[in-house]
Amino acid sequence: MDAHTSATAGSKAQPRTVALFVSDLHLSADVPRTSAAFFDFLQNTGTQAKALYLLGDVFEYWAGDDDLDAPFNQKVCTVLRSLADSGVQIFWIAGNRDFLVGQKFAMAARISLLQEPHIVTMAGQKLLLLHGDAQCIDDTDYMKFRARVRDPAWQSVFLARPLADRKALIAGMREGSRAAQKEKSMAIMDVNPTEIKKLFRSHSVELIIHGHTHRPGMHLTEGGTRYVLPDWDCDGDTARGGWIAMDSDGKLSSVSILNSG
Ligand code: MN
Repeated sequence: MDAHTSATAGSKAQPRTVALFVSDLHLSADVPRTSAAFFDFLQNTGTQAKALYLLGDVFEYWAGDDDLDAPFNQKVCTVLRSLADSGVQIFWIAGNRDFLVGQKFAMAARISLLQEPHIVTMAGQKLLLLHGDAQCIDDTDYMKFRARVRDPAWQSVFLARPLADRKALIAGMREGSRAAQKEKSMAIMDVNPTEIKKLFRSHSVELIIHGHTHRPGMHLTEGGTRYVLPDWDCDGDTARGGWIAMDSDGKLSSVSILNSG
């Protein structure tokens, strides 16, 4: 009787988490609390989901898959792999910081690398997923830089340099990018509304999820609804971070790390 009762209760289960979306962790060995918060999220929340979508800038930078031996990178790889081993499918869209992640890392962490924009249908909802930097077309300097570094020819020349040189070059670029951002207006560093409208139309979708802009929110626009993921920072004065969850009824909800228990 008890067994029967619990089986009945089980069949009317709460909606399950079909997928989790997260981005902009900007992890490195320099942000131990942010890294710990992300690992907690993977172990406590990640394991409840069928799929995890990492939508870019998981790492603050990635110098190449030959940097996989660094202890911090090993740790991230191990945590992702154990989540994958527990049965959660992990998908990865490159960010503007970690676009040099390649198949060697993907194999080691048991993640699947996706091209953006990625279209997926789950729980009856068609979604378009991307990092978001490619839609910030008003930042013309950044778009020029992006075109250069996303070129496979540039990447193979860059990756042929010694790891230490690459790390030094990346440190210089990060410094340059911080300085340049101070000069740019908030509007320039956001996605361009026309680019978003084009995505809704050309892919016949009504839902977009992206990160990159560090301006979390939900925007109802002409073409559809655009969800923006938050960035994470638990090493500063005020902790922030969070994710979006889709449940088996196709409902999307934004969850802050501060309210997740
Ligand atoms: Mn980004």
